[in-house]
Amino acid sequence: MVTGGAGFVGSWVCERLLELGAEVVCVDNFVTGMPDNVRSFESHPRFELVARDISAGLQVGGDVDWVLHLASPASPVHYLRLPIETMKVGSVGTMNALELAERMGARFVMASTSEVYGDPLEHPQHEEYWGNVNPVGPRSVYDESKRFSEALTAAYRSERGVDAAIVRIFNTYGPRMRADDGRAIPTFMSQALAGEPITVAGDGSQTRSICYVDDTVDGIILLAASEEAGPVNIGNRDEMSMLGLAERIRDLVGSMSPIEFVGLPTDDPKVRCPDTSRARELLGWEPRVGPDEGLARTLSWFRAQEPEYAAS
Ligand code: NAD
Repeated sequence: MVTGGAGFVGSWVCERLLELGAEVVCVDNFVTGMPDNVRSFESHPRFELVARDISAGLQVGGDVDWVLHLASPASPVHYLRLPIETMKVGSVGTMNALELAERMGARFVMASTSEVYGDPLEHPQHEEYWGNVNPVGPRSVYDESKRFSEALTAAYRSERGVDAAIVRIFNTYGPRMRADDGRAIPTFMSQALAGEPITVAGDGSQTRSICYVDDTVDGIILLAASEEAGPVNIGNRDEMSMLGLAERIRDLVGSMSPIEFVGLPTDDPKVRCPDTSRARELLGWEPRVGPDEGLARTLSWFRAQEPEYAAS
């Protein structure tokens, strides 16, 4: 079972599981995901799509071996529009998913985030760092619901014996991201393709480390297939400034778009880079797709989506 399986990362997880020979039940309420994301494998005989809000309950006919829990709004534009729903799926939704895993004796993996580190005072971020999160700032609806989800996952593991694990995903990108979800890469690509100004927050010196979705999916599946509890960071260590990323995307597109500096969102992290030594040691995981290749693949996908981009 993949909760949030019609989302960006979830749809790639479903597709990989089908390739590996699994039967996949995808549960999604399409609050931020899209049926289009699963269209190419929707009619696969081992795939089932269930339209459901997991915060309202979670049941399944038959046995479940793995519950991969990815349901949650993930981009700032979405969780700021859906603050209560975000906290509900991170609390009640996570509890429902953990209860299902307990009933089924299933392995459980919770998709957490580098946002649990907040605006970090340690760099790069190792799993033992506890983070620097404002509990009442606008981003807290996401950060704290993920921190609560982690605490709940750890409690079900220690108190109820659920075989549960936590993966902390760092900024992931690739095909099937929504052009309108406000995250940097789809935003910069859509703006560059349309010849509009590329909007960079602040002075663009804040850094992110971007991981291609295939590598993130590898990490999630490797963790699910292991006996590790985590948390395990999954992310790429190629740290870059947001201005550098915007210029790189503009060059890749071959666009003349100017860079326009806009206000920095409240509590925006100044730096973000994973320490991935734990993933390497415990799972043998390393990212394989560098930014040049990953951004080129993502750009081809964006170009193919919009006929008006095709000529640019
Ligand atoms: P996404 O918004 O594309 O996918 C989330 C999916 O969950 C959507 O399909 C949405 O409709 C579904 N969903 C949300 N609430 C639901 C509910 N109550 N019931 C059923 N379905 C629900 O986001 P994404 O980028 O694919 O992120 C997937 C997961 O990975 C999220 O949990 C996110 O926090 C985590 N994550 C993603 C990134 C990233 O860079 N993409 C980084 C860190 C963590």
